[in-house]
Amino acid sequence: MKKIIIITIPIIILIGIFLFLLKEPKVILSDNLEATLNSEVYANDYIKNIYRGKLVDNKRIDTSTLGTIKVPIEIETIYKQKRTIELEIKIVNNESPIIEAKEKITIKEGEEINLLENVKAQDKDKEELIVEVVGEYDINKPGTYNLKYVTRDSSGNKVEKKFVLEVTEKEKGDDQPIEPDKPTPEPVTPKEPDSTPTPTPTSGDQTFTTSKGFSGVTKDGVTYIDGILVVNKTYSLPSTYSPNGLTAETQAAADKMFAAAKLEGLYMWAQSGFRSYETQRSLYNNYVSYDGKANADRYSARPGHSEHQTGLAFDVCMSGYGCINSTFDNTPPANWLSANAYKYGFILRFPKGKENETGYMHESWHFRYVGEELASKLYNNGNWITLEDYFGITSVYSN
Ligand SMILES: [Zn+2]
Repeated sequence: MKKIIIITIPIIILIGIFLFLLKEPKVILSDNLEATLNSEVYANDYIKNIYRGKLVDNKRIDTSTLGTIKVPIEIETIYKQKRTIELEIKIVNNESPIIEAKEKITIKEGEEINLLENVKAQDKDKEELIVEVVGEYDINKPGTYNLKYVTRDSSGNKVEKKFVLEVTEKEKGDDQPIEPDKPTPEPVTPKEPDSTPTPTPTSGDQTFTTSKGFSGVTKDGVTYIDGILVVNKTYSLPSTYSPNGLTAETQAAADKMFAAAKLEGLYMWAQSGFRSYETQRSLYNNYVSYDGKANADRYSARPGHSEHQTGLAFDVCMSGYGCINSTFDNTPPANWLSANAYKYGFILRFPKGKENETGYMHESWHFRYVGEELASKLYNNGNWITLEDYFGITSVYSN
């Protein structure tokens, strides 16, 4: 009898443990516990299977900061009890940085050059990037050197951009000092497109009426509707169009706006203002090569289609709140701009949920000068109306 009891007790305990284990849920996680910065992912995306239980709430995971985050999720057992497990998700940045640089640099034999002087490396979350020059060259030996710029972001995305360094032979007389008194030519002041009244159409200009009855004119390849310069996917600018900086009116309005924000403790600045046709071309081409044309077209304009080429638009940054990416959304500076920019003549050019009108994803940081009168109308008590909707025009590429 004693023997039977000695044998039975452990068996009963084992069966008990077995039954207990059986009712506990078992969660099998995915092999890849990573998410891209600012992507839309849910708890369920990281769960392969749950035995003896189910997920209570398939919650969205906050992917707005880089690094490993812990996400508690609730599992309900078959006996309707709640268990919490912790997911460890690594938020990574898959957006490759972009290098902007000249494709060819020409120097004379023996001429000192800092090859890093005109290189700009840019990352979507504005990390400080270090650029290196890779390849061998000798400034004392004429020839063509194929070199490349290389940069890497903190998530390990590496980008290279090839360029050519041409060292030309020293000609006779090259050692002569340059005449010091050479008069510098007067800089050409560009015509400000926003301060010009609607151009009077002359023959050769194309005039049209929008679907909402506004009159438009395309003069030398530049389109004005009701006196407002319009650039989007439908309306482009010629490659030669260049105010070479923000227009004086835009700059003055921006200064006023940023001064007002500063009084409320918001230290903002215009990070990216005027961009030439050429700069936009290389920026866009880089995005296309990293992200594909369809994706790039949602957030980057093709050359000639960027509002940055007008000198009337800029992207706003404030340290600590993200810069030119969706981290800026709903932050104090973004909210302030959305509520106050119109007072200074600026519009939130790409409002949320209006991609089908503007042709671009929401950009809480991109502001365009249109003057106070129109900006007040488009502000619409915070429910921003797009230029496209207001004028009754499209923003679609023709090819
Ligand atoms: Zn912009």
